[in-house]
Amino acid sequence: MAVDLPSDAGFNRSGEGSALVEGLRSEARRLGFSRLGVAAVESGRDPQVHEAFRRWLDLGFAAGMERWLAAHEPLRREPASLLAGVRSVVMLATDYAATAPATGGGRVARYAWGDDYHDLLRPRLNALGAWLEAASPGARTRGVVDSAPFSEREFGWLAGLGWFGKNSMLIDPAAGSYFFLSALLVDIDLPPEVPIRVDHCGSCTACLEACPTEAFVAPRLLDANRCISSLTIETRGPVAAELRSGIGDWLFGCDICQEVCPWNRFAPGSVEPTFQPRQGQPALALAELLALDEQEFRRRFRGSPLGRAKRSGLLRSAALVLGNRPDRAAFESLVAALADAEPVVRGAAAWALGRWRVAGESLADLMPRIEGALRARQKVEADAAVREEIAGSLAE
Ligand code: SF4
Ligand code: SF4
Repeated sequence: MAVDLPSDAGFNRSGEGSALVEGLRSEARRLGFSRLGVAAVESGRDPQVHEAFRRWLDLGFAAGMERWLAAHEPLRREPASLLAGVRSVVMLATDYAATAPATGGGRVARYAWGDDYHDLLRPRLNALGAWLEAASPGARTRGVVDSAPFSEREFGWLAGLGWFGKNSMLIDPAAGSYFFLSALLVDIDLPPEVPIRVDHCGSCTACLEACPTEAFVAPRLLDANRCISSLTIETRGPVAAELRSGIGDWLFGCDICQEVCPWNRFAPGSVEPTFQPRQGQPALALAELLALDEQEFRRRFRGSPLGRAKRSGLLRSAALVLGNRPDRAAFESLVAALADAEPVVRGAAAWALGRWRVAGESLADLMPRIEGALRARQKVEADAAVREEIAGSLAE
C-alpha cells in the first residue's frame, strides 16, 4: 500500500527541468516509496566519508564483520562494480514507523515488527527500474536493497535524503530516521541533489547519553561490539557478561538512540501492511519463545527479520531479558531452558537464574527451586562455558 504523502513531502527537491526525474518521482510515489533523491556517481563524493568508514573498520568496531567489509570495501567504494557505466544513483527512502500499543515481554526494534522489508522493496525497485528503462530507451538499471556491497548511507546523504546524526543514522529534517534506504543504479545522467551539509544535531547529545551499553565512542563513531542491535541479531555465541544488563528488555535490535532523537517527532507513521506488528509483536512473550523448537521457530518467523537471529540467538536473548526483568510466569520455561540443546541458551538461562537469586524478596520463595535446578544441571552439564555460568550463578 502506498504511503499517504503530502504533495511535496520529499519529492520536491532539485531536479527541476528534468521531465524524467519528475516522472520517476511520481512513479516512485505510486509504487509506495516515501522520498526520492538523485546522486551523481562521479562528482560530489566526500573522501571523508570513506576515511571514516576505513577508520571504523581499523578500530575493530564492526563486530566481527571487519574481514568481510574490508574485503568488499573496493567494491563498495566503486558502484561501477555493480553496474558497468553507472552514472547516477536514485536513492529511495521508505518510512516504516508503524505504531502499536506497548506490550510486556521482549522488545523488538521497530523495523522488525512486521515482515521482511526486502520482500517489499525488491519488487518495487524492479518495477521502478523497468519504468525508467521504458521511459529512457537504452538506459540500464540495477536495484540494491542491502543485497550488494554498496554505500547506502553515503549515497542517501549525497542524494539529499538526510544528514549523518551523532547516532550514525541518516536523519531527514522533515521525516526523522525511521526509514529504509534502497538504491536504483542507472547508467544515464540525472540531475543530482545538493547534500545537507549543516549538522542539525547542534549541541544535542541525547542519543550518546541514552545508549545503555555506551556503544558510542564519540559522535558518529559506534562500537558495534557494544551495540544491542549487533549483540541480539548478529552475535552467535554468549553475550559478554558486562553488556548483559544493558540489554534490558531488548530481545531483537534496539531503537533507543532513535527514540530519543528529537527529529523523530517528525517521523511520518506508516500504514504499510508489511510493517505492521506481526502476531504477538511489538514485544514477544518470553516463556513462549523459550518453548519453541527448531521447526516451530522456523514456522513462526518465516518471512520475518527475526529469523536472522536464528533460534539459538533469539532464545539466548529471551533468557537474558528474563535475567534483567524477572517474570514469574516464565520461571518454568527458564528452568527448562537449562536443558536446551544449544549451549548458548543453557548458559544464558543459567545466568538469568543467577540474576533472579539476587533479585530480592519478591522471588524469595523460588530460591530453593532455582538452586536445585542449577545444581541438578551442574551434575550433567558437559559444556565448559555453561558450567562456568552455572558456577557463577550458584556463587551469587
Ligand atoms: S541501537 Fe541501542 S545499543 Fe545500539 S547504539 Fe543505539 S542506543 Fe546504543
Ligand atoms: S539525538 Fe540529538 S545528537 Fe543524536 S542524532 Fe538526534 S539530534 Fe543528533
